[in-house]
Amino acid sequence: MNQPLQAPSDRPRYLYVQTFGCQMNEYDSRRVEGILAAEGYRLTDDISLADVIFLNTCSVRDKAEQKVHSFLGRLRRLKKRNPDLKIIVAGCVAQQIGKGLLSRFEHLDVVLGTRGISSVAQVLDRVSKTGERLSFLPLEEPSAEPGSKEDLPFNAGQVAASVTVMQGCNNFCTYCIVPYVRGRERSRPSGEIVKEINGLVACGVREVLLLGQNVNSYGRGLEESVSFIDLLKRIHEETDIQRIRFTTSHPKDLTDGLIECFATLPRLCGCLHLPFQSGSDRILKRMNRVYTSAEYIGKIEKLRLCCPEIGLTSDVMVGFPGETEEDFQDTLRLMDRVQFDNLFSFRYSDRPYARSVEFPDKVSEDIKARRLAELQAMQAEITLRKNRDEIGKVREILVEGPSKTSNGQLTGRTQQNKIVNFESTGDLTGSFARVRVIDAFSHSLRGELVADLP
Ligand code: SF4
Repeated sequence: MNQPLQAPSDRPRYLYVQTFGCQMNEYDSRRVEGILAAEGYRLTDDISLADVIFLNTCSVRDKAEQKVHSFLGRLRRLKKRNPDLKIIVAGCVAQQIGKGLLSRFEHLDVVLGTRGISSVAQVLDRVSKTGERLSFLPLEEPSAEPGSKEDLPFNAGQVAASVTVMQGCNNFCTYCIVPYVRGRERSRPSGEIVKEINGLVACGVREVLLLGQNVNSYGRGLEESVSFIDLLKRIHEETDIQRIRFTTSHPKDLTDGLIECFATLPRLCGCLHLPFQSGSDRILKRMNRVYTSAEYIGKIEKLRLCCPEIGLTSDVMVGFPGETEEDFQDTLRLMDRVQFDNLFSFRYSDRPYARSVEFPDKVSEDIKARRLAELQAMQAEITLRKNRDEIGKVREILVEGPSKTSNGQLTGRTQQNKIVNFESTGDLTGSFARVRVIDAFSHSLRGELVADLP
């Protein structure tokens, strides 16, 4: 099972990883990097050096899938130059199209399903030895559970890391492909999650992001009786992790008990990503979201009572089949009422398998584009104003390292998940610092160091 791969020569073997889509995919890519690092592969940013190219794909949005196809097309030239190069496509597009990808792209070697990640080394070994091209789409993770020794994400030197707590979804929102490509909900035993977090803490990680398609329904189907609230408490009690975040949550599963955790669990960061998708009850019903806009707003009000400074982000879609101008105005009204810190907004697109493909009254692309532009302009104003409200406040940030955008500055995040760049003479990476916010932009804040925290 875990035989080392044959080295074609003494030259190091290089792995290039490209990830599309969500944080779940990022997590799986880190797992692949960890598994193949144990086989002797070195990570490279230079695709022309690669012996293996691993594409982790997303098919939740039509645009993401198109990007994968065009990226794959561009790899034809590299394969021609180096016939030993192995190209692997994994993730949702692989799961959804399967074998068909091999016929569409004759230079592709492996199609790896969403539950085949832990077998990447064995699959690569086989195609390297036999030269065959194959698709591997198991119904279950075939080897050890995620989080086992050979399957931990590659987190070397990271200050913040992700930990998958559950995968899959049972909700079947009518526009969504996830239950078909990621399968039904499966939670990891709480002991395993705690063990993984303790391992991360030992490597210097100070913040974890608990990941799942629907984290707040964590625990369903496990032999042990454990809820997401129990999991959060256990992580508090049994690990020394300093900060905990989680994503993604379904509004229907955001219970009063979970809302109270934001007031009672001191290491749970005051931020929440809570997708609302539409402000129109008629559209929410067609989407099978099983809450109304009033119920959604009620939960936001409770959250703000428990945690007045909570940072709130959300997902929203425009142009769902049958969305009228009035429905769209309901969406803008909800945004105006809630005042999100940030919003991820998309145009609806038909996805294979999704029930909404069959829905009549499709909205034209022109109307979708106009609505999206209007919505984004409104949110940009709200985001900037909320960022400006931060000016003058002193915030505790976890310093993640040098800023990628501001030369010579360090960067970190507040509890509310806002990025702060600041100048420092020392390298504070991995420590907590207090900064006073002195300027605000659309995507980040600028701060000045007040004092380092022990
Ligand atoms: S909750 Fe709905 S949108 Fe989210 S993954 Fe499940 S089916 Fe998709």
